[in-house]
Parts: sequence; structure tokens; C-alpha cells
Amino acid sequence: MTYRTDYPRIFDGHNDTVLNLSMKGRGRNRTFFERSDIGHLDLPRAREGNFGGGFFACFAPPDPKGGWTEDDALVQSEGGYVVTDSPALRPEYALMSAERLTDKLFELEAESEGTLKVVRSVGEIEGCLANETIAAILHFEGAENLGDEPGSLEGFYRRGLRSLGFVWSRPNAYANGVPFRFPASPDTGAGLTEKGRELVRECNRLGVLIDLSHLNERGFWDVARLSDAPLVATHSNAHALCPSTRNLTDEQLAAIRDSDGIVGVNFAVGFLRKDGAYRKDTPLSVVVDHVDYLVEKLGIERVGFGSDFDGAMMPIELRDASGLPRLMDALRERGYGDAELGKLAHENWLRVLRETWK
Ligand code: ZN
Repeated sequence: MTYRTDYPRIFDGHNDTVLNLSMKGRGRNRTFFERSDIGHLDLPRAREGNFGGGFFACFAPPDPKGGWTEDDALVQSEGGYVVTDSPALRPEYALMSAERLTDKLFELEAESEGTLKVVRSVGEIEGCLANETIAAILHFEGAENLGDEPGSLEGFYRRGLRSLGFVWSRPNAYANGVPFRFPASPDTGAGLTEKGRELVRECNRLGVLIDLSHLNERGFWDVARLSDAPLVATHSNAHALCPSTRNLTDEQLAAIRDSDGIVGVNFAVGFLRKDGAYRKDTPLSVVVDHVDYLVEKLGIERVGFGSDFDGAMMPIELRDASGLPRLMDALRERGYGDAELGKLAHENWLRVLRETWK
């Protein structure tokens, strides 16, 4: 099966496929290379959806010894939702988990017979997009993956790490993530720690992209002040349309625009809707509403996609990566032409990566 040519290849800001594939025993026993109905992304569904690659997150799941599980933590009500605060991970647990997930991504590459490549440069991504190979950026979601020392970034960089989210929605030695709340402000606590500020300098020195998604607002402004790279939120939406802590305020969007950065639009239903309900029947038009709003605030050059495939509840109309053509159709119907769809699909991401990576 080959990719379709009626619309551009999609390069995507965020998926949790590596973790999802390694969660055996929860009914998730599948491989990346065969079509499955489990999860959202595998090679056959990527090809059906014209998914050309993206940021493959290594996310250390909650420590079973920490007593916090995602299933118990979400409390929904008429007015929105609250997720019980997730505790910080033990650094040795996070580091072990990061090693295991990094190995898993390289195993996928080795098993892929050339259909998936871990990329370290924009030239490599362009080669993948031209050759029907999935381009996978090794991304850490949470700097606790590094352990407690910013200096360990360089070792992971040598192995291929090119993108680092300072936090998931919990605290670590570097920064504080936003707890999931709706409606609520992303201004939920203290900014970067001294180690966090040191980590910004390390990322800038090595040319590792800093991902601001999940970071609280004071941490966001610390990075905006210290970093010399474009500001990037790989998988977040507009707070004005959906006032979740995970989304970006107009002031944050203005800073991203001024730095010539990018926002990847997140398809997770909990970060899309005005009413904060976790509902699978959320229409794709709501995703397009966020695209419209972000394009208005940032310009068409600074918006991309950040699906959250394999990490969140997707609108049923999209279903999974194979449904991406339906999103492109919805964008066309809203008036986006070929040149604009090309920018949203991958050109903007490649531009930001070219400016960020050294
Ligand atoms: Zn995330």
C-alpha cells in the first residue's frame, strides 16, 4: 500500500504509540506493523491516513508504587473535569522507564525493514517523506526521564533525542506541569527551578527542541525569557475556546507568534470542547474551530497538528490515524486551499525544526 497523493503528507507533533505498544496485558497486545483496532496508530493506518511521521514520545507512566492511576483520577461533572494531582516520579524509576522506551523505539526502527526511521535532522525527515518512510523524532515527555541532572541530556542527545517536554502534568526536578482541570487557568504554581533554567541552556546549546505543552504558565514565561529558540507547544489548543489548564492563553499565543514558533493542534476531546466534556461524539468541526482560532492569532505559518494519538480519547469521526483524510476534508470545506494545507500538514513543522536543530 502506498500513500495517497490528493493531499500532503502529515507530520505530527505528538503520539504516545511507543508506550501504548509496550503496555501488554491490558488488551493492547499489538504490533506496529499490522493493522489493529486497538489504539490509533500503526503502519497500515498511517499509510491510509497519509501520516508521514512525527514526535514519538517516551512518557514514563505513573509509578505503580506511587498509588496514582489515571483511571481513578479523572472526575467529570456538569461543569467540566478535575484530575487528582499526579505525584512526582522517583528519578531512578523515570530514568529506567525512559531507557526502556528509548530502546523500544529503536527496536521498532530495527524491525521496520526501512519503513520507520528515527530522524536527527530535517534533511532526514524530508528523505522519509519522499520515500514513504515514517520519520520518528525521539521525544521525551517529562525531563524526569533524564534523572535529576541536566547534564545527562547530552548522552540521550547522542542516542538521537531531539525534543524534550520539560514536564508531563506533574512536578519534577526542573519544572511544574499543569494538573488537568477545566475550567481553570494554566497559572497553577511556581516556574522553573534552577536546574530547569540550566536545562534550557543545555537544550539551546545542543539544539534540542523544548516542548511547552503540559508546562504551567510561570514555567512557560521562564522558558520564553531564557530560550533563544522558537517557542513550541507540540500538542495544545486555544484556552479561549476550551478553558483547560492544558491549553494556551492569548498572551501565550502572542509570545509563540513573536518567537516564530508553532502550536500543534491536539485532537483529544478533553482539550477541544467549550463545555469540558469527555465525549467521543465531539465533531471534527471543533478541531477545525481551534485551527481557525490559532491561525487567526499566530498566522498560517505557525500552526500544525499534534494529534495525541495513542494517548487520549479521539473524536469518533476521526477515530485514528486512518481518519486524517476526514480532517483534511473538513479543513478544505472551511476554505483552506492546497498551499495552506501543505503548511499545516508539515511545512510549518519542518521550518521550526530547521530553526531549532543545529
Ligand atoms: Zn501529553
